[in-house]
Amino acid sequence: MTDLGLYIHIPFCRSRCAYCGFYSIGRKPDAPFLKALAKEMEMRSPAFQDYLCDTIYLGGGTPSSLSENQLAEVMDNIRRRFHISDHPEITMEMNPCDMTDSYLRHARALGINRISIGVESHDNRLLRTIGRLHTASEAEKAVKRAWDLGFRNISVDLMYELPGQSVMDFRKSLLWAVHLPITHVSVYSLILEEGTRFAQLADRGKLPRPTEEESWAMYQDMCRILPHYGFERYEISSFARKGYRSRHNRKYWELSDYLGLGPAASSRIGRTRFTISPGVRMYEKDLLTGSAPAEEIEKLTEKDEMEEYCFLHLRMKEGIPLDDFEHRYGHPLSFWYGRQVAMLKKQKLLTEEDRHLFLTYHGAALGNYVFEQFLRDE
Ligand code: SF4
Repeated sequence: MTDLGLYIHIPFCRSRCAYCGFYSIGRKPDAPFLKALAKEMEMRSPAFQDYLCDTIYLGGGTPSSLSENQLAEVMDNIRRRFHISDHPEITMEMNPCDMTDSYLRHARALGINRISIGVESHDNRLLRTIGRLHTASEAEKAVKRAWDLGFRNISVDLMYELPGQSVMDFRKSLLWAVHLPITHVSVYSLILEEGTRFAQLADRGKLPRPTEEESWAMYQDMCRILPHYGFERYEISSFARKGYRSRHNRKYWELSDYLGLGPAASSRIGRTRFTISPGVRMYEKDLLTGSAPAEEIEKLTEKDEMEEYCFLHLRMKEGIPLDDFEHRYGHPLSFWYGRQVAMLKKQKLLTEEDRHLFLTYHGAALGNYVFEQFLRDE
């Protein structure tokens, strides 16, 4: 059987965060949505009977906007339709506001064994600015509650380069997070996604941004503080305690097979990528009238895949395994990218050891620049 990552997109949020470019709408999941999702599982699962799901990820949106009964229904449908491995990693993104004792107990009983929580910052003023509905103390209580109720694999998200965030603010957030009972931290700098409230403010020149020096100081704090407290940087934005790297996300970085269900979810099976159209109403209408949901299908060429292989592997600490690359694409990496690699090594952004090519400390800070060098023109 082939391993498969299963992703379920729950596209509902209580309100819209000012920076968020993910597809979601401001209401609660309802019966037609649950029925459509069940129908999609029923429709797609026959093609995946030779696959074994070893990771499941409930993302969003806000999956914890599902009621306890709705969550049970989703998990039950997954188990009925797909083969699940003996020790799957089952992650659920949760909003601190939803993490009551009862909800956490229920989720654990359903087999959820990893929680990812968007705590974002230790500063209540910043949380309000970015549109989060919880305070730092509520987030902290939620994390501790999950730990007390038996969750032993908890990840938190933090953000930096936020409007009005000082270097000291971010340092405090890092020092706060490392003292929580967690195993994993994902840290994201603010990206101005088109259509978000922050992007609109930035267009009008009304979004304060950190200076280059401040950004660099925040970056250095992240790279210094998290490892100091036992969180190894194993991917460009991800830090984990030993044994707690995200198994599901690794599938994305290693170009493994994953199936995404729900509006706006993406899948990758071999060299085919398909993305379901966003739009909950259309999704429900299609599925409840017996049609497959509208989706965009993209057949990746070898060149497309090779580019992705390079920049996704470079995101990871171990970088590009050169022997695997050669085995997969018939020629050594230098055949395709000799000039670029030589230049990036000279700029001290890439380095090589034990037949792996990976980002240096400075290379990881300039990741996008490095990745662009792996896009081939011809
Ligand atoms: S960041 Fe999360 S909670 Fe906020 S709008 Fe986006 S998906 Fe919803």
